[in-house]
Amino acid sequence: MLIGGLQKVSLIDFPGKIASVVFTQACNFRCPFCHNATLVDRRQFGPTLSEDEIFGYLSTRKEQIEGVVISGGEPTLQSDLKQFMCKVKDLGFRTKLDTNGTKPDVVAELINLNLADFIAMDIKHDFARYDLACGVQARIEDIIRSIDLLKTCGVDYEFRTTIVPGIHSRNDVVSIAKNIGGAKKFVIQEFVPDHAMDNNLRHRVKESLFDSAHRIELENLRSECLRYVADFDIRYAY
Ligand code: SF4
Repeated sequence: MLIGGLQKVSLIDFPGKIASVVFTQACNFRCPFCHNATLVDRRQFGPTLSEDEIFGYLSTRKEQIEGVVISGGEPTLQSDLKQFMCKVKDLGFRTKLDTNGTKPDVVAELINLNLADFIAMDIKHDFARYDLACGVQARIEDIIRSIDLLKTCGVDYEFRTTIVPGIHSRNDVVSIAKNIGGAKKFVIQEFVPDHAMDNNLRHRVKESLFDSAHRIELENLRSECLRYVADFDIRYAY
């Protein structure tokens, strides 16, 4: 795999687990709010880490680390993802995959082989305006296949959307909840502008749904979304 980074310890990336996070290089989306440009834009790729370095570290941390998150970039673009996750499982770790859902066949294979214990899929926008948030022309049929797959596969999962002022409105959040209707869990995350791929988003100061002035509105939003999904969570940046 092309591995651009390793976060040795994370308490927030794998629900309920102390985890390491492996970041793969390359992505087929260009979300303007992405803060991982060095993992997305080939011109900004840094040096890679070898699998030996990753497994060398993990094999000495079996007592402390419970899980390994494979994030990116978009991990499902890596041709040897399956083999990598197999090695992680063989070491005794639980695995979590972060994906943008564009490769449902890859996700299905990982599920069928029991290589993913948790899957977090980004839902970039409601289906009608997906391209606005993912920066390319998305194949919505693939996104829908991935959503349907996660809802029925029996593996623990969540759908999550980063809410960006100027790109997502309050009503869009409800539309997304409808698009994933019947899902076990929908999480909205606060946008952090500091390292956004689109310079224009970095310093834009706009009213955000996550501002303290909108807390009641966010709670009302929770009630509306819970008409479509079983669980709804709000992740603040700070
Ligand atoms: S935020 Fe978008 S561009 Fe960045 S890694 Fe995720 S899917 Fe790719």
